Amino acid sequence: MNKEKRRLIFERLRENNPHPTTELEYTTPFELLIAVILSAQATDVGVNKATRKLYPVANTPEAIYALGVDGLKEYIKTIGLFNSKAENVIKTCRILIDQHNSVIPDNREDLEALPGVGRKTANVILNTAFGQPAMAVDTHIFRVANRTGIAPGKNVLDVEKRLLRLVPREFLIDAHHWLILHGRYVCKARKPQCGSCIIEDLCEYRDKTE
Ligand code: SF4
Repeated sequence: MNKEKRRLIFERLRENNPHPTTELEYTTPFELLIAVILSAQATDVGVNKATRKLYPVANTPEAIYALGVDGLKEYIKTIGLFNSKAENVIKTCRILIDQHNSVIPDNREDLEALPGVGRKTANVILNTAFGQPAMAVDTHIFRVANRTGIAPGKNVLDVEKRLLRLVPREFLIDAHHWLILHGRYVCKARKPQCGSCIIEDLCEYRDKTE
């Protein structure tokens, strides 16, 4: 895909949704971090249902740590993999309290040292909580980047690096939200809705649907 097309795609996505953000509900970087840890292999809707009950009761490292693993499980047991997520969240809270004065670190190294936080989660926090141009490539972004030709790559790291290199600077902060939302609601895995897609004329996918 050439530069001009890529730019036009992001201009359209921006015009359609000028202030995109995550669908996870949060009010602080800590709440976002916990929501993202809980969202692995789960839906944002499911995580929001749980955190709407959890956060009014506990939304700091100290308060969640005080719940303990079993106490936390009561709030998140509707979310997949809740046993291991509860363990990771409690360990993460302990590290935040002991090593970071209960403040979420704004660098990749410290974020990835937290249990339950991998590269993708760190990228979400760096981008969404701290406004850094990080690209959290999930299954939706991977698919959209490859189908459209915006940034094709064999694996998520490949796509992440290409997006960071190829997306025009002015769109870098918001690009990952636009691509996730586009993949979730329009360029769906099984049946992309090409007929009602706002970038259909720019997309280079060969098997477009009606
Ligand atoms: S035209 Fe189809 S394949 Fe291309 S981005 Fe739109 S929905 Fe996806």
